[in-house]
Amino acid sequence: MKTIAYVSMATFLGTILTANWVVGNLRPDEYKSGIVWPSPPEVDPGSSNQPPSDAVVLFDGTDLSQWQGGERWKIEDGIATVQGSGILTKQSFGDCQLHIEFATPKIVKGKGQGRGNSGVYLMGRYEVQILDSFDNPTYFDGQCAAIYKQQPPTVNASRKPGEWQTYDLIFEAPEFDDQGKLVQPAFITVLHNGILVHHHFEIQGSTSWDSPAAYSAHADKLPIHLQNHGNPIRFRNIWVRENVQPLSGKKSE
Ligand code: MG
Repeated sequence: MKTIAYVSMATFLGTILTANWVVGNLRPDEYKSGIVWPSPPEVDPGSSNQPPSDAVVLFDGTDLSQWQGGERWKIEDGIATVQGSGILTKQSFGDCQLHIEFATPKIVKGKGQGRGNSGVYLMGRYEVQILDSFDNPTYFDGQCAAIYKQQPPTVNASRKPGEWQTYDLIFEAPEFDDQGKLVQPAFITVLHNGILVHHHFEIQGSTSWDSPAAYSAHADKLPIHLQNHGNPIRFRNIWVRENVQPLSGKKSE
């Protein structure tokens, strides 16, 4: 009985292999798109969230010389702490990938929007909220990692007060025509502590506390702003990459 089973199995496998061999030999040529691509540039990715080789380093723990108003903030042990006013990058950015690390105060003071509040404003006008949202109820589209007053994060990935957290933002700047009309809105993807909390979210316009979101025409590139909301939020390891456009290839002749 066993022998018959083995013979049947061998015959069965033999049939499959033969069929594959025949089909394999009849297979058409490999598909090629005909597009000639440029070679993707080589980038040293760094380690442990340190800047990749093609990043613009905005804060490496030394000073805030890349920022307008940076002299007002306290810098100690490689950490910058919000003090006195917000700061703005001297360089302007449009489409970009931004990495930023922050920590809300370990000693909890205040509640809701008054507890560990700051914010990352792309182009100085589109805020990804920074807030101590660990066991700190507030309106959902104003909690940590919200696109302020537009969209709550998909999940609350906040760490405890005082613990270091990361944002990795992928931002596509809006486009306006010559008459200042919006041609394409801004989009943003946000990872909070490595967790996806916005996936290609369509930004509805400038974020504001006291008015609805609205677009008004602006330059292709503008500074990044870190908000002063009166709370001593700490920052470290901030870098941005502008090399985010897809490569374009050419159809071969
Ligand atoms: Mg804020």
